[in-house]
Amino acid sequence: MNLLDIRNLTVTYPGGAQAVRGVDLSVAAGQKLGIAGESGCGKSTLALALLRLLPPGTKVGGEILLDGEDVLTMRWGRVRAVRWAGASIVFQGAMHSLNPVHRVGEQIAEPVLLHGRATPGAARRRAAELLEQVGLPAARAAAYPHELSGGQRQRVMIAMALACDPQLVVADEPTTALDVMIQAQILRLIERLVGEQNVALLMISHDLGVLADTCDRLAVMYAGRVVEEGPARTVHEDARHPYAEALSLAFPHIGDPASRFAPRGLPGDPPDPFALPPGCAFQPRCPVAVDACATEDQALREVVPGRRAACLHVPAPLPGPTAGSAETRSTA
Ligand code: ADP
Ligand code: MG
Repeated sequence: MNLLDIRNLTVTYPGGAQAVRGVDLSVAAGQKLGIAGESGCGKSTLALALLRLLPPGTKVGGEILLDGEDVLTMRWGRVRAVRWAGASIVFQGAMHSLNPVHRVGEQIAEPVLLHGRATPGAARRRAAELLEQVGLPAARAAAYPHELSGGQRQRVMIAMALACDPQLVVADEPTTALDVMIQAQILRLIERLVGEQNVALLMISHDLGVLADTCDRLAVMYAGRVVEEGPARTVHEDARHPYAEALSLAFPHIGDPASRFAPRGLPGDPPDPFALPPGCAFQPRCPVAVDACATEDQALREVVPGRRAACLHVPAPLPGPTAGSAETRSTA
Protein backbone atom coordinates (compact mmCIF):
# COMPACT_ATOMS: atom_id res chain seq x y z
CA MET A 1 0.00 0.00 0.00
CA ASN A 2 1.18 3.53 -0.71
CA LEU A 3 1.60 6.05 2.06
CA LEU A 4 -0.44 8.55 0.05
CA ASP A 5 -2.98 7.78 -2.66
CA ILE A 6 -4.75 10.74 -4.23
CA ARG A 7 -7.65 9.49 -6.35
CA ASN A 8 -9.61 11.62 -8.79
CA LEU A 9 -9.18 14.73 -6.64
CA THR A 10 -11.25 17.75 -7.69
CA VAL A 11 -11.27 21.14 -5.97
CA THR A 12 -13.66 23.96 -6.87
CA TYR A 13 -13.33 27.22 -4.95
CA PRO A 14 -16.39 29.21 -3.90
CA GLY A 15 -17.14 31.28 -6.97
CA GLY A 16 -16.46 28.37 -9.29
CA ALA A 17 -12.71 28.28 -10.03
CA GLN A 18 -11.88 24.66 -10.89
CA ALA A 19 -8.39 24.64 -9.43
CA VAL A 20 -7.85 20.85 -9.38
CA ARG A 21 -9.61 18.66 -11.97
CA GLY A 22 -9.23 14.95 -11.42
CA VAL A 23 -5.75 14.30 -10.06
CA ASP A 24 -4.44 10.78 -9.38
CA LEU A 25 -1.06 10.59 -7.64
CA SER A 26 0.69 8.23 -5.25
CA VAL A 27 3.64 8.51 -2.90
CA ALA A 28 5.23 5.41 -1.38
CA ALA A 29 6.70 5.51 2.15
CA GLY A 30 10.01 7.36 2.08
CA GLN A 31 9.56 8.39 -1.57
CA LYS A 32 10.09 11.91 -2.89
CA LEU A 33 7.53 13.19 -5.41
CA GLY A 34 7.95 16.58 -7.06
CA ILE A 35 5.04 18.59 -8.45
CA ALA A 36 5.93 21.18 -11.06
CA GLY A 37 3.86 23.67 -13.04
CA GLU A 38 3.52 27.39 -13.62
CA SER A 39 1.82 29.65 -11.15
CA GLY A 40 -1.94 29.08 -11.05
CA CYS A 41 -1.87 25.42 -12.09
CA GLY A 42 -3.35 24.19 -8.80
CA LYS A 43 -0.24 22.99 -6.96
CA SER A 44 -0.87 24.82 -3.68
CA THR A 45 -4.56 23.94 -3.81
CA LEU A 46 -3.57 20.28 -3.98
CA ALA A 47 -1.21 20.71 -0.99
CA LEU A 48 -3.88 22.49 1.07
CA ALA A 49 -6.46 19.81 0.24
CA LEU A 50 -4.14 17.13 1.67
CA LEU A 51 -4.56 18.52 5.17
CA ARG A 52 -8.08 19.98 4.75
CA LEU A 53 -6.72 23.53 4.88
CA LEU A 54 -8.91 24.92 2.07
CA PRO A 55 -11.24 27.86 2.79
CA PRO A 56 -14.83 27.12 3.88
CA GLY A 57 -17.25 26.59 1.01
CA THR A 58 -14.63 24.95 -1.22
CA LYS A 59 -15.96 21.78 -2.90
CA VAL A 60 -13.58 18.85 -2.76
CA GLY A 61 -14.22 15.52 -4.48
CA GLY A 62 -12.35 12.24 -4.77
CA GLU A 63 -10.21 10.54 -2.16
CA ILE A 64 -7.00 11.39 -0.32
CA LEU A 65 -5.85 8.20 1.35
CA LEU A 66 -3.12 8.81 3.89
CA ASP A 67 -1.93 5.45 5.17
CA GLY A 68 -5.22 4.02 3.91
CA GLU A 69 -7.45 6.54 5.68
CA ASP A 70 -9.41 9.11 3.66
CA VAL A 71 -8.48 12.60 4.87
CA LEU A 72 -11.55 14.05 3.15
CA THR A 73 -14.04 12.09 5.27
CA MET A 74 -12.16 12.15 8.58
CA ARG A 75 -13.77 13.74 11.62
CA TRP A 76 -12.13 17.06 12.56
CA GLY A 77 -10.59 15.55 15.69
CA ARG A 78 -8.85 12.99 13.55
CA VAL A 79 -7.74 15.65 11.03
CA ARG A 80 -6.12 17.60 13.86
CA ALA A 81 -4.34 14.46 15.02
CA VAL A 82 -3.05 13.78 11.50
CA ARG A 83 -1.73 17.32 11.02
CA TRP A 84 1.89 17.53 12.17
CA ALA A 85 2.03 13.92 13.34
CA GLY A 86 0.93 12.19 10.11
CA ALA A 87 1.72 14.85 7.55
CA SER A 88 3.02 18.41 7.83
CA ILE A 89 3.47 21.33 5.45
CA VAL A 90 6.33 23.79 4.92
CA PHE A 91 5.00 26.87 3.12
CA GLN A 92 6.81 29.34 0.95
CA GLY A 93 6.73 32.44 3.13
CA ALA A 94 8.04 31.45 6.56
CA MET A 95 7.44 34.98 7.84
CA HIS A 96 3.71 34.55 7.35
CA SER A 97 3.55 31.10 8.88
CA LEU A 98 5.48 31.95 12.04
CA ASN A 99 3.87 33.94 14.82
CA PRO A 100 5.81 37.24 15.12
CA VAL A 101 5.20 37.63 18.86
CA HIS A 102 6.35 34.19 20.01
CA ARG A 103 9.91 32.91 20.33
CA VAL A 104 10.74 30.33 17.67
CA GLY A 105 11.60 27.70 20.29
CA GLU A 106 8.07 27.92 21.72
CA GLN A 107 6.63 27.63 18.24
CA ILE A 108 8.58 24.48 17.49
CA ALA A 109 7.62 23.02 20.87
CA GLU A 110 3.92 23.77 20.30
CA PRO A 111 3.02 20.89 17.96
CA VAL A 112 5.00 18.53 20.21
CA LEU A 113 2.90 19.62 23.21
CA LEU A 114 -0.31 19.69 21.20
CA HIS A 115 0.08 16.07 20.32
CA GLY A 116 0.44 15.14 23.97
CA ARG A 117 3.77 13.57 23.44
CA ALA A 118 5.79 15.51 25.95
CA THR A 119 5.95 17.57 29.12
CA PRO A 120 6.78 21.27 28.59
CA GLY A 121 10.41 20.56 29.57
CA ALA A 122 10.71 17.65 27.16
CA ALA A 123 9.09 19.71 24.37
CA ARG A 124 11.69 22.46 24.96
CA ARG A 125 14.49 19.92 24.76
CA ARG A 126 12.98 18.49 21.58
CA ALA A 127 12.83 22.02 20.09
CA ALA A 128 16.53 22.55 20.90
CA GLU A 129 17.42 19.21 19.33
CA LEU A 130 15.40 20.03 16.19
CA LEU A 131 17.07 23.44 15.85
CA GLU A 132 20.46 21.73 15.86
CA GLN A 133 19.25 19.21 13.30
CA VAL A 134 18.33 22.03 10.93
CA GLY A 135 21.69 23.70 11.46
CA LEU A 136 20.81 26.43 13.97
CA PRO A 137 22.34 26.77 17.45
CA ALA A 138 19.92 25.62 20.16
CA ALA A 139 20.26 29.08 21.75
CA ARG A 140 18.35 30.53 18.79
CA ALA A 141 15.21 29.07 20.41
CA ALA A 142 14.96 32.37 22.29
CA ALA A 143 14.85 34.44 19.08
CA TYR A 144 11.73 36.04 17.63
CA PRO A 145 11.09 35.44 13.91
CA HIS A 146 12.12 38.98 12.91
CA GLU A 147 15.55 38.39 14.49
CA LEU A 148 16.27 35.61 12.00
CA SER A 149 17.17 35.76 8.31
CA GLY A 150 14.84 34.34 5.66
CA GLY A 151 16.90 31.18 5.38
CA GLN A 152 16.97 30.73 9.18
CA ARG A 153 13.21 31.17 9.36
CA GLN A 154 12.76 28.53 6.70
CA ARG A 155 14.99 26.23 8.79
CA VAL A 156 12.66 26.86 11.74
CA MET A 157 9.67 25.92 9.57
CA ILE A 158 11.42 22.69 8.61
CA ALA A 159 12.15 21.96 12.27
CA MET A 160 8.44 22.45 13.06
CA ALA A 161 7.41 20.22 10.18
CA LEU A 162 9.61 17.43 11.53
CA ALA A 163 8.76 17.96 15.21
CA CYS A 164 6.14 15.20 15.49
CA ASP A 165 7.91 12.65 13.26
CA PRO A 166 5.41 12.76 10.37
CA GLN A 167 5.48 10.14 7.63
CA LEU A 168 4.94 12.79 4.96
CA VAL A 169 6.28 16.33 4.61
CA VAL A 170 4.67 18.59 2.01
CA ALA A 171 6.97 21.46 0.98
CA ASP A 172 5.21 24.12 -1.11
CA GLU A 173 7.84 26.25 -2.87
CA PRO A 174 10.05 26.00 0.24
CA THR A 175 12.91 27.98 -1.29
CA THR A 176 11.23 30.30 -3.78
CA ALA A 177 11.44 33.35 -1.50
CA LEU A 178 15.16 32.83 -0.73
CA ASP A 179 18.44 33.92 -2.37
CA VAL A 180 19.95 31.41 -4.76
CA MET A 181 22.80 30.43 -2.41
CA ILE A 182 20.44 29.92 0.52
CA GLN A 183 18.01 28.02 -1.71
CA ALA A 184 20.63 25.37 -2.38
CA GLN A 185 21.43 25.04 1.34
CA ILE A 186 17.79 24.61 2.29
CA LEU A 187 17.23 22.05 -0.46
CA ARG A 188 20.22 20.02 0.69
CA LEU A 189 18.89 20.24 4.25
CA ILE A 190 15.44 18.97 3.25
CA GLU A 191 17.02 16.19 1.22
CA ARG A 192 19.29 15.14 4.08
CA LEU A 193 16.55 15.16 6.73
CA VAL A 194 13.93 13.28 4.72
CA GLY A 195 16.65 10.79 3.76
CA GLU A 196 17.86 10.27 7.34
CA GLN A 197 14.38 10.00 8.80
CA ASN A 198 12.86 8.09 5.90
CA VAL A 199 10.07 10.66 5.59
CA ALA A 200 8.15 10.82 2.32
CA LEU A 201 8.34 14.20 0.60
CA LEU A 202 5.88 15.93 -1.68
CA MET A 203 7.78 18.93 -2.96
CA ILE A 204 6.11 21.62 -5.00
CA SER A 205 8.04 24.04 -7.18
CA HIS A 206 7.73 25.94 -10.43
CA ASP A 207 11.38 24.99 -10.99
CA LEU A 208 11.48 21.61 -12.66
CA GLY A 209 15.28 21.50 -12.50
CA VAL A 210 15.25 21.72 -8.69
CA LEU A 211 12.67 18.94 -8.49
CA ALA A 212 14.56 16.70 -10.91
CA ASP A 213 17.60 17.07 -8.64
CA THR A 214 15.81 16.39 -5.39
CA CYS A 215 12.95 13.98 -6.13
CA ASP A 216 12.52 10.35 -7.23
CA ARG A 217 9.42 11.01 -9.27
CA LEU A 218 8.00 14.09 -10.91
CA ALA A 219 4.46 15.13 -11.80
CA VAL A 220 3.82 18.13 -14.05
CA MET A 221 0.53 19.96 -13.51
CA TYR A 222 -1.28 22.16 -15.97
CA ALA A 223 -4.68 23.82 -15.42
CA GLY A 224 -5.53 21.59 -12.47
CA ARG A 225 -4.49 18.31 -14.09
CA VAL A 226 -1.41 16.14 -14.06
CA VAL A 227 -0.22 16.08 -17.68
CA GLU A 228 2.88 13.98 -17.18
CA GLU A 229 4.29 11.80 -14.41
CA GLY A 230 7.30 9.54 -14.19
CA PRO A 231 10.86 9.11 -12.88
CA ALA A 232 12.16 12.62 -12.12
CA ARG A 233 15.26 12.68 -14.31
CA THR A 234 13.51 11.05 -17.24
CA VAL A 235 10.65 13.54 -17.17
CA HIS A 236 13.10 16.44 -16.99
CA GLU A 237 15.40 15.20 -19.74
CA ASP A 238 12.92 13.47 -22.03
CA ALA A 239 9.46 14.93 -21.42
CA ARG A 240 6.63 13.43 -23.50
CA HIS A 241 3.93 16.04 -22.98
CA PRO A 242 4.55 19.33 -24.86
CA TYR A 243 3.85 21.34 -21.72
CA ALA A 244 6.28 19.29 -19.62
CA GLU A 245 8.83 19.70 -22.39
CA ALA A 246 8.35 23.48 -22.56
CA LEU A 247 8.64 23.74 -18.78
CA SER A 248 11.74 21.61 -18.74
CA LEU A 249 13.38 23.71 -21.46
CA ALA A 250 12.64 26.83 -19.45
CA PHE A 251 14.96 25.55 -16.69
CA PRO A 252 18.61 24.69 -17.17
CA HIS A 253 19.56 21.06 -17.52
CA ILE A 254 22.48 20.04 -15.37
CA GLY A 255 25.59 19.64 -17.50
CA ASP A 256 24.06 21.29 -20.54
CA PRO A 257 25.53 24.79 -20.88
CA ALA A 258 23.50 25.57 -24.00
CA SER A 259 20.19 25.29 -22.16
CA ARG A 260 21.62 27.18 -19.18
CA PHE A 261 22.49 30.23 -21.22
CA ALA A 262 19.52 30.20 -23.53
CA PRO A 263 16.51 29.09 -21.50
CA ARG A 264 13.49 28.98 -23.73
CA GLY A 265 10.32 30.61 -22.53
CA LEU A 266 6.77 29.58 -23.23
CA PRO A 267 4.53 32.37 -24.55
CA GLY A 268 1.12 32.95 -23.03
CA ASP A 269 -0.36 32.03 -19.65
CA PRO A 270 -2.19 29.07 -18.17
CA PRO A 271 -5.97 29.35 -18.66
CA ASP A 272 -8.27 31.06 -16.21
CA PRO A 273 -9.87 28.31 -14.09
CA PHE A 274 -13.22 30.09 -14.56
CA ALA A 275 -12.96 29.82 -18.34
CA LEU A 276 -11.18 26.64 -19.36
CA PRO A 277 -10.89 26.09 -23.11
CA PRO A 278 -12.68 23.07 -24.59
CA GLY A 279 -10.57 20.02 -25.41
CA CYS A 280 -7.03 19.92 -24.06
CA ALA A 281 -6.44 22.89 -21.73
CA PHE A 282 -2.91 23.34 -23.11
CA GLN A 283 -4.05 23.41 -26.75
CA PRO A 284 -4.14 27.25 -27.15
CA ARG A 285 -0.40 27.41 -26.28
CA CYS A 286 0.68 24.09 -27.71
CA PRO A 287 3.24 24.17 -30.54
CA VAL A 288 2.15 20.77 -31.86
CA ALA A 289 -1.65 21.04 -31.45
CA VAL A 290 -3.86 19.60 -34.19
CA ASP A 291 -7.59 20.19 -34.79
CA ALA A 292 -8.67 17.32 -32.55
CA CYS A 293 -6.90 18.92 -29.54
CA ALA A 294 -9.50 21.70 -29.51
CA THR A 295 -12.31 19.22 -28.96
CA GLU A 296 -10.87 16.09 -27.33
CA ASP A 297 -9.49 16.12 -23.82
CA GLN A 298 -6.81 13.54 -23.14
CA ALA A 299 -6.70 11.31 -20.07
CA LEU A 300 -3.39 10.58 -18.38
CA ARG A 301 -2.30 7.18 -19.65
CA GLU A 302 0.70 4.93 -19.37
CA VAL A 303 3.27 5.60 -22.09
CA VAL A 304 5.83 3.08 -20.94
CA PRO A 305 5.61 1.24 -17.62
CA GLY A 306 5.99 3.76 -14.82
CA ARG A 307 5.44 6.82 -17.05
CA ARG A 308 2.16 8.55 -17.77
CA ALA A 309 1.29 11.42 -20.09
CA ALA A 310 -1.91 13.08 -21.31
CA CYS A 311 -1.38 14.06 -24.94
CA LEU A 312 -2.92 12.96 -28.21
CA HIS A 313 0.57 12.69 -29.71
CA VAL A 314 1.75 10.29 -27.08
CA PRO A 315 1.10 6.75 -28.25
CA ALA A 316 -0.07 4.09 -25.84
CA PRO A 317 2.50 1.37 -25.09
CA LEU A 318 2.63 -1.61 -27.40
CA PRO A 319 0.92 -4.67 -25.97
CA GLY A 320 3.19 -7.46 -24.84
CA PRO A 321 5.83 -8.04 -22.19
CA THR A 322 7.54 -4.80 -21.22
CA ALA A 323 9.05 -5.86 -17.90
CA GLY A 324 12.71 -5.09 -17.34
CA SER A 325 12.66 -1.58 -18.78
CA ALA A 326 15.27 0.56 -17.08
CA GLU A 327 12.62 3.19 -16.42
CA THR A 328 10.22 0.84 -14.71
CA ARG A 329 9.49 1.79 -11.17
CA SER A 330 6.23 0.63 -9.79
CA THR A 331 4.43 2.92 -7.38
CA ALA A 332 1.64 0.45 -6.73
P1 ADP B 1 -0.29 27.28 -7.85
O1 ADP B 1 0.08 26.91 -6.47
O2 ADP B 1 0.02 26.21 -8.85
O3 ADP B 1 0.27 28.60 -8.25
P2 ADP B 1 -2.97 27.63 -6.80
O4 ADP B 1 -3.37 26.30 -6.28
O5 ADP B 1 -2.52 28.63 -5.82
O6 ADP B 1 -1.88 27.42 -7.94
O7 ADP B 1 -4.18 28.26 -7.61
C1 ADP B 1 -4.90 27.54 -8.58
C2 ADP B 1 -6.06 28.39 -9.04
O8 ADP B 1 -7.02 28.54 -7.99
C3 ADP B 1 -5.65 29.80 -9.45
O9 ADP B 1 -6.35 30.16 -10.61
C4 ADP B 1 -6.07 30.66 -8.28
O10 ADP B 1 -6.44 31.93 -8.70
C5 ADP B 1 -7.28 29.90 -7.74
N1 ADP B 1 -7.39 30.10 -6.28
C6 ADP B 1 -6.43 29.87 -5.34
N2 ADP B 1 -6.87 30.15 -4.11
C7 ADP B 1 -8.16 30.57 -4.25
C8 ADP B 1 -9.20 30.99 -3.35
N3 ADP B 1 -8.99 31.03 -2.02
N4 ADP B 1 -10.39 31.35 -3.88
C9 ADP B 1 -10.60 31.28 -5.22
N5 ADP B 1 -9.70 30.89 -6.12
C10 ADP B 1 -8.49 30.54 -5.65
MG1 MG C 1 1.40 27.88 -5.14
